[in-house]
Amino acid sequence: MDKIVDFQNTEIAFASKSNTELTRARLLFEILKNKQLVNFSNKLLQWALALKLPVEWIIKATVFKHFCGGVSLEQCAPLVRKLNESGVYAILDHSVEGQDSEEQFDQNTRLIQEEIRNAASNDGVAFAVFKPTSIGRLETFELLTKDPTAESLEFNRIKERYFSIGETAKTLNQRIMIDGEESWMQASADELALALMERFNQEEVIIYNTLQMYLADSYERLEAWIERAKSQNFKLGVKFVRGAYMEKERAYAKKMRIPSAVCVSKEATDELFDKGVALAFEYPERVSIFLGTHNEKSTEKAAQLALKTYGVVNHPNVWFGQLQGMSDQITYNLSHVKASVAKLIPYGPVKEVLPYLVRRAEENTSIAGQTGRELKLLRTEQKRRSS
Ligand SMILES: Cc1cc2nc3c(=O)[nH]c(=O)nc-3n(C[C@H](O)[C@H](O)[C@H](O)COP(=O)(O)OP(=O)(O)OC[C@H]3O[C@@H](n4cnc5c(N)ncnc54)[C@H](O)[C@@H]3O)c2cc1C
Repeated sequence: MDKIVDFQNTEIAFASKSNTELTRARLLFEILKNKQLVNFSNKLLQWALALKLPVEWIIKATVFKHFCGGVSLEQCAPLVRKLNESGVYAILDHSVEGQDSEEQFDQNTRLIQEEIRNAASNDGVAFAVFKPTSIGRLETFELLTKDPTAESLEFNRIKERYFSIGETAKTLNQRIMIDGEESWMQASADELALALMERFNQEEVIIYNTLQMYLADSYERLEAWIERAKSQNFKLGVKFVRGAYMEKERAYAKKMRIPSAVCVSKEATDELFDKGVALAFEYPERVSIFLGTHNEKSTEKAAQLALKTYGVVNHPNVWFGQLQGMSDQITYNLSHVKASVAKLIPYGPVKEVLPYLVRRAEENTSIAGQTGRELKLLRTEQKRRSS
């Protein structure tokens, strides 16, 4: 079978990057390769920030510049325009984590609604997005995950926030994705997401929920979601990812003396990811798909399935997405074959996006291959330009 996407084409992958930008990216990944250095720098920077030492500029000039869009929605505008010029959409994500006051949750709800309005007024911004724990405490989701019948005023307020966000999205006909987080709080968040779909995904898919395929029971979850969408007659939006909280999941399982919720191996995760995506493609009338992945094999397989199912790669039911600063060979070569593809761009004050940046730094050291892949491609392109 002919391949749809040529991930080796670095000329297309980096066409929008100047020589200086290439060199800067290469330098950053050379540093990220060093696990000990990354761990040490993470600790040092967090300590320095806690002591209010003026170190923000170091973060801003390095990882923040590479992986983020700016400190505010407005600051992301030039990057969004640049991506759009190459046929790539943007998803702007106000990356806040670890907050715990009702005022902050209400404020974040208003901010998410502002993001929805911003996305709705800009054709180049494909989705709005939010994290469950940006509008409610993790412990509250956890309580309702363990006991779905528990009475909780806090959870009622979370529910109200979900529905007011859904209402805004539906009124403006703006698609929105809900992130996946820790397994021990996820079931109650999934319940709310499905309730939103039931209300707002009647004709079109406005709400997408994330399914982390590294969870050993993810396939069964997907089957249950599809059954529910069929029986309650709504459309299902699924954002497929592998899952970003592996270390946390392991630590939690160890602490609770329970088996980890995550698959036993990378191979098992890969298999579940592709199997889940294939199942979703069996319901073209019912299920819309967003593939959040930097995995070339899974991307090619999904592109093949899109072609087989819909006759085209760029059907409105099929989206691809990568994180800003990673896997340009996937993003730009997908855009080259006219697939719908977006970069997820976190933004916000440096301190607020720090947990996200630490995850990216750790991911780029801990995932065998990711940094190596980025470096290899950057080197290939530099060589091509100089020859
Ligand atoms: C647009 C977008 C949105 C995202 N949104 C979310 C989100 O809402 N929630 C979230 O959790 N993550 C999210 N992620 C991150 C995602 O879950 C992955 O961490 C990241 O994309 C790396 O996986 P991959 O499929 O790109 O690539 P790959 O490099 O092929 O896979 C790496 C992943 O495989 C899994 N893995 C690695 N080793 C093992 C092992 N030993 N056993 C079992 N599994 C293993 C882990 O999930 C790891 O992250 C998002 C990613 C993108 C691109």
